[in-house]
Amino acid sequence: EPLVFSGVQPTGNLHLGNYLGAIRRWVALQETSKCIYCVVDQHAITPPISVWGGPAELQRNTREVTAAFLASGINARTNIVFNQSRVHQHAELAWVFNCVARMGWLNRMTQFKDKAGKDRENASVGLFAYPTLMAADILVYRATHVPVGEDQKQHLELTRDIAQKFNTDFSDRIADLGLGVDTPSGEEIISSYFPLTEPVIGGPAARVMSLRDGTKKMSKSDPSHLSRINLTDDVDTISKKIRKAKTDSEPLPSEIEGLKDRPEADNLVGIYAALVDSDRATVIRDFGGHQFSTFKPALADLAVEKLAPIAAEMRRLSADPGYIDAVLKDGGERASVLAEKTMRDVRDIVGFLQN
Ligand code: ATP
Ligand code: MG
Repeated sequence: EPLVFSGVQPTGNLHLGNYLGAIRRWVALQETSKCIYCVVDQHAITPPISVWGGPAELQRNTREVTAAFLASGINARTNIVFNQSRVHQHAELAWVFNCVARMGWLNRMTQFKDKAGKDRENASVGLFAYPTLMAADILVYRATHVPVGEDQKQHLELTRDIAQKFNTDFSDRIADLGLGVDTPSGEEIISSYFPLTEPVIGGPAARVMSLRDGTKKMSKSDPSHLSRINLTDDVDTISKKIRKAKTDSEPLPSEIEGLKDRPEADNLVGIYAALVDSDRATVIRDFGGHQFSTFKPALADLAVEKLAPIAAEMRRLSADPGYIDAVLKDGGERASVLAEKTMRDVRDIVGFLQN
């Protein structure tokens, strides 16, 4: 049975990339699958405290991301919405995975290299171990599908590698306990406990780029406010950021192939396509040959039309933090039941004595 898991960090500056690349696609998946959507607050504290902002900021951002989930149309009754730290089994499983994953695997992670920057000696151990906690977030529910933006592809491959190594290392024990499913692994058949999770990546906004630099992903942590559209931006701010978005001086191409090697144009067309739930080819059919002076105002109007209702609903929800907290508490209780079921199995599989 498919089970969907995904998360967003409460690090502030929730942006159009988070919405189009992740949250909006979660809304569609809840029609067909059981879904668990998490505000990953333990991931949020991996950068320096001056960056994540401290306790008051973390609490504010956790509520804001939850409000964004709900305002975007995620149903917290039929699904599970909660903040990660409430369910201590994530961290518990992450420790086991720290002992399954190899240093070499984590050394290859580009997100760590990007976020640690030049001063790697001074990065937190948590930032380095981020992907093993992410694997635990997913596998503590034995989730089968994870809808994310393209930047998370490498972490999901690592999640599969961890699941595979755990299954192989403990195959005999998993079989003895009757907890496994027979699966082919190379030449042999092993008894697997964890599924090999599928990433769900795609659509025109799998990688929304910075509005200031078409070669960099739109990110919460970019110091330039003009680089991203935030979900909480007002109408004037959205219009201004799109008007000031970097472009080349050519009109839009009349064929989609013409977007190649024009990262800024490609990005704006991709954003438009995602906002109307269409594809780049359709947008080029309508706007091919037009100047940015025509396309940008159309894009700004569209972005405002789609985002303003979400921002309004976020403001409405944020006026009642008690309600948000109750949603997270209820979701956390339901998530804990599922996570503890997995952890009981994992403790038995590994050989940790328990009652
Ligand atoms: P940070 O820079 O702090 O890592 P972030 O913008 O990457 O912030 P996350 O909370 O790490 O936000 O990611 C939440 C989800 O949004 C993930 O599924 C991620 O793949 C997706 N996402 C992030 N940035 C983009 C983007 N530019 N385009 C599409 N999806 C994105
Ligand atoms: Mg990120």
